[in-house]
Amino acid sequence: MPNTGRCLVRGSIMPTIVQPGETLSSTHYERRSGGKGANQAVAVAKAGASVTLIGAIGSDGDWVLNGLKQVGVDVGPVIVTHDEPTGRAIIQLTPEGENCIILHRGANYATVSSDSVTSTTFSHLLIQNEIPFSSTLAALAHAHQIGATTLFNPSPMPNIQQLRELPWDELDWLIVNQGEVLTLLKAFQSDRNINTAEREPVTLETPATWPSHPEIKAAYSLLRRLHEHPAFSPRINLVCTLGGLGATALLPSGEALYVPAATLSGPVKDTTGAGDCFTGYLVAGLMEAESGGKVKMSREVAEKILQTAVEAAGVCVQRAGATESIPYRRELQSVA
Ligand code: ADP
Repeated sequence: MPNTGRCLVRGSIMPTIVQPGETLSSTHYERRSGGKGANQAVAVAKAGASVTLIGAIGSDGDWVLNGLKQVGVDVGPVIVTHDEPTGRAIIQLTPEGENCIILHRGANYATVSSDSVTSTTFSHLLIQNEIPFSSTLAALAHAHQIGATTLFNPSPMPNIQQLRELPWDELDWLIVNQGEVLTLLKAFQSDRNINTAEREPVTLETPATWPSHPEIKAAYSLLRRLHEHPAFSPRINLVCTLGGLGATALLPSGEALYVPAATLSGPVKDTTGAGDCFTGYLVAGLMEAESGGKVKMSREVAEKILQTAVEAAGVCVQRAGATESIPYRRELQSVA
């Protein structure tokens, strides 16, 4: 059950992402619902799992709630504040489907009583970083205490102080993209107590069965460095998404896996929300694998979960929008 903030996505399609000093007119304007919490909750629901969203919206956000309800997200604990508007994301979108995002946090930073987390029954907690960091930490602590599986998609990336403060031992899964894993590792390595040898960049050889691609090698090396870093927790399952290259993971056992991206049937339209779609499907897969209780993840089960997640994300990038582009499970080839 994700316990996250929520924001509203405003999408605009532009000829190119604006450069410093440049002014561009958009060719198109669309209002869509989104926010990482909402997007990932929608993905969990569309993947067929039960999901409750906790967060805050402004009094202008009714239509967002209605959209979430329609796809089966339980929004019962979402509070409506009259002090702030619903959060906003201004998304610039290039014709190639690349995006650039400006966030206004709005109601996402309104006070939400911790009771809404502690009074909700859940087995999995999915958190991002679009709500106050203290709320994220409180939810994580509670989930850990009740033995729920905890997943963190650190986006936007917390600052160095927050990263050091985070109780990594309370975390079971960390889901990052290539840029995020690099930022995380750098944050850990900026610690003055770390000796110089540990700061040296190394590119490790990936397993022989993997495609020999510099970006896959780089992500694999970063995950290994993170996994082994003394300030990090080796018990965390690490997942790194690689855009059009798919995803890679490193399990606490030290086993690594690579799953290629889905073969697309058409052009990439919009990558907004692909990471959220991937994450929601990963959580739903994990919930299925852990329906009898928390398990130590095997390589085979993790691979199956990631395969479904990349398949769903592959459908997502071929459609416009954030939550609207996330496919239902019945739309996936592997299910049909
Ligand atoms: P984020 O948006 O969080 O940075 P990524 O760009 O890594 O996330 O994309 C998340 C997932 O979406 C990838 O693991 C992949 O499965 C899928 N994806 C993204 N871009 C493409 C693409 N061009 N072709 C196929 N799949 C893609």
